[in-house]
Amino acid sequence: MRPFTYERAKDAQSAAQSVANRPGAKFIAGGTNLLDLMKLSIERPQHLVDVSRLPLNQIEDKEGGLRIGSQVSNSDLAADPRVRQRYPLLSMALLAGASGQLRNKASTGGNLLQRTRCYYFYDVSKPCNKREPGSGCAALQGFNRIHAILGASDQCIAVHPSDMAVALTALDAKVETVAPDGSERTIPINELHRLPAATPHLETSLQSGELITAVSLPAPPNGRQIYRKVRDRASYAFALVSVAAVIDSADRNVRAARLALGGVAHKPWRAPEAERVLAGASNTRDSFVGAADAALKGAQGHGHNDFKILLAKRTIEQTLADASKQA
Ligand code: SF4
Repeated sequence: MRPFTYERAKDAQSAAQSVANRPGAKFIAGGTNLLDLMKLSIERPQHLVDVSRLPLNQIEDKEGGLRIGSQVSNSDLAADPRVRQRYPLLSMALLAGASGQLRNKASTGGNLLQRTRCYYFYDVSKPCNKREPGSGCAALQGFNRIHAILGASDQCIAVHPSDMAVALTALDAKVETVAPDGSERTIPINELHRLPAATPHLETSLQSGELITAVSLPAPPNGRQIYRKVRDRASYAFALVSVAAVIDSADRNVRAARLALGGVAHKPWRAPEAERVLAGASNTRDSFVGAADAALKGAQGHGHNDFKILLAKRTIEQTLADASKQA
């Protein structure tokens, strides 16, 4: 372990200032990802600003939706009766992630900012453009079974590991932040995470020191919500492919649908083309196959992960079929 200094934040703006003003400073909340990365010398912060005791741990009703403080734990969020009743997709996604102990510690803000589980990112003996820009990408020619099939680049094919973020993407969540100068802004969840392009070390649109203070959910969408996660074992494993689906059906037709995928890209992957295919389509397997094809248009495997393309299609089809039956 490398030496670092520690500070407990007094309020959100001073926390943002501390991180912006001190080179090598980082926020820490639950620490469920950061501490592992520090032990492996992948993250080497010189100063930690602990935001876990800030009064950002409330879930409030707001404009027909919910405002979730960034320090609400994943366990508390999954168990909240309003989330279970109105946003079951979110509760399902949270409970599909990590373990009970980790969910007790992991925060809403930290979950969004967790880093990829690419094997080579964690192996400091291997080149990795995300860990060390310009060093190369060991996964491209390596064992890339868990890697991206959509939106990747020749610099990085890592995937974002969060389940919660996939559900929030389907639910059109917004991320609230405070900057070091005290200004606040709201970022649509789909604009929070970046694709790798030529700069895979830049993972979000957050500025230096910008702190996530809350996630807001609009009023719940009409229709049935389902989160389905396909993984190598039944618990405590990241998604090979996950699907967050919302279907609003009437008279054997789909009125509207939302679809987001996890485990396939550097960010939670919303599939608007598939949603367009579904809107007004009949509630049939053919429609779901068409939507799955649209969602995976342009998908590219890298050898070991080629299977993910078909897996994603089949998972989308079955999730839509299940959602439409119960819509
Ligand atoms: Fe690093 Fe990304 Fe390549 Fe993994 S896929 S080795 S994270 S550059």
